[in-house]
Amino acid sequence: MSVCDNYKSVEEKVIQACKRAGRDPSEVTLIAVSKTKPISMIEELLPLGVRDFGENKVQELTEKAEILSPEIRWHMIGHLQRNKVKYVVDKACLIHSVDSLRLAEEISKEAGKKNRTASVLLEVNVAGEESKFGIAPEEALPLAKEIAGLPHIQIKGLMTIAPYTEDPENNRNFFRDLRKLSVDIAQENIDNVTMNVLSMGMTGDYEVAIEEGATHVRVGTGIFGERNYSI
Ligand SMILES: *Cc1c(COP(=O)(O)O)cnc(C)c1O
Repeated sequence: MSVCDNYKSVEEKVIQACKRAGRDPSEVTLIAVSKTKPISMIEELLPLGVRDFGENKVQELTEKAEILSPEIRWHMIGHLQRNKVKYVVDKACLIHSVDSLRLAEEISKEAGKKNRTASVLLEVNVAGEESKFGIAPEEALPLAKEIAGLPHIQIKGLMTIAPYTEDPENNRNFFRDLRKLSVDIAQENIDNVTMNVLSMGMTGDYEVAIEEGATHVRVGTGIFGERNYSI
């Protein structure tokens, strides 16, 4: 199967999941996670109208962004170090991985220098996995309130990386929890904080994530095939 065939098949499953959940497919953005994959594979998708791509490393994102069309919307989905913020803040349309006030301060500062306002999500470790980045669910509201006071950053919602599992049903409750958390935070009506984005679901579990309210799913392997980290 070609990258385009894979993409279309994932897109069809997105539509079916929306139908099951009584949702409009236009509410869900399918982000093609192109990390480790060559420019040529990204270019294959452009004629289909695909514009949302996800990367987890600053250097890879900026290199690809320099070469490819400025129409592409780059999503920074990986852990972000403060010293790399300046390279990515004007390249990424959305930073999915904010997990501390210090990182948010750096993003606000660098965005301000470039006369921009950065859009970000708070990354929540809903399953409490030791190995994962992200804040605990109970930290999300206090952190959102602190970040809301910064001038050049806007929180748009929440992101989570659910545990790896063979059976996506195992993650349904985690997605439900993230959704509930976003509703709770939205009810606080904090200035500069909206909760319209729920970034959750990857190749193994995006259909369940959509059934539970995902607005952005991040699919890599299902579109580009397995990643080879040994080369
Ligand atoms: C790699 C990655 C994905 C995509 O994972 P697949 O299982 O290949 O779909 C999604 N989100 C994040 C944060 C990632 O790092």
